[in-house]
Amino acid sequence: VAKREGGARFRLFQPEMGEQVLARQRDKTDLRAAIDDGQLVLHYQPIVDLATSRVTGAEALVRWQRPGHGLLGPMDFIGLAEETGLIVPLGGRVLADACEQAVRWQEQGRTVGVTVNVSTRQLSTSGFLDTLDHVLDNTGLRPSGLTIEVTESVWADEVAMQALMQIRETGVRVALDDFGTGYSSLSYLQRYPFDIVKIDKSFTAELGESGRTAGVVRCIIDLTEVLGANAVAEGIETPAQADWLRRAGCGFAQGYLFGKPDVAENWDEQPSVVWAAKRG
Ligand code: C2E
Ligand code: MG
Ligand code: MG
Ligand code: MG
Repeated sequence: VAKREGGARFRLFQPEMGEQVLARQRDKTDLRAAIDDGQLVLHYQPIVDLATSRVTGAEALVRWQRPGHGLLGPMDFIGLAEETGLIVPLGGRVLADACEQAVRWQEQGRTVGVTVNVSTRQLSTSGFLDTLDHVLDNTGLRPSGLTIEVTESVWADEVAMQALMQIRETGVRVALDDFGTGYSSLSYLQRYPFDIVKIDKSFTAELGESGRTAGVVRCIIDLTEVLGANAVAEGIETPAQADWLRRAGCGFAQGYLFGKPDVAENWDEQPSVVWAAKRG
């Protein structure tokens, strides 16, 4: 019966629309399987202390090694994951893998913490705090070794916002990603504490070209300091950008200048990467 109904409904669509629906269904099925089959790959990008040039952290950025399609970037599948709810198991996998990697690095005498992107949708599911607890327990990573990155969309979701503040109380750090590109709100920024504000690469890309942009970036850095948070500049590709940011008082940066996202194994062999030494 269901099949007959499906067929009847299908006739209301144009054939191309039917194909799109089918393709989407296939993508969803494949993504579901990919999460369990280990097809998700984490690349890590160094986060550098601008004062010392040492790596103090690494952002985990997910890719999908999809059979027959090559290595897909997050832009190709995170949207689908969010729409279908697959972001919950996907994000859980990413969180567990990244925390495991952080412990491995720390066992090797490196202080790097990991930074994980978390979707608002994922944050607002009731099980997220339990998942986080579980992952920290299982891996043995101290909460301070983990940073959760969220975007400004979190401010529109009361449940996600509550979860975020609870997470912060456990000692896990919270970063505001892509600051200035979404629905930026000074009132929210003032009301809800963040440990880190990430300045989006659309700003840093224009640093050398526009005095206006430079002024705005300077203000974001100052604002971050006033709020007691650390600023991380994203998308740094040239020494000139890094110099400018250091002089403007920006503490940390990330970008191709310091390292492109890559698998952890390749990172370990990078002589140009200066790791922060073990504390005390
Ligand atoms: P994001 O968190 O803002 O990550 C920064 C993006 O900028 C990454 O793209 C990174 O590869 C790229 N990038 C870094 N340095 C440079 C540079 O110097 N120049 C340029 N042009 N680009 C640079 P990527 O890996 O494609 O990730 C895109 C977005 O996908 C991320 O933006 C993040 O919002 C999302 N994402 C990645 N992994 C996850 C995940 O595990 N979960 C969720 N929910 N979202 C994720
Ligand atoms: Mg991020
Ligand atoms: Mg960003
Ligand atoms: Mg982004």
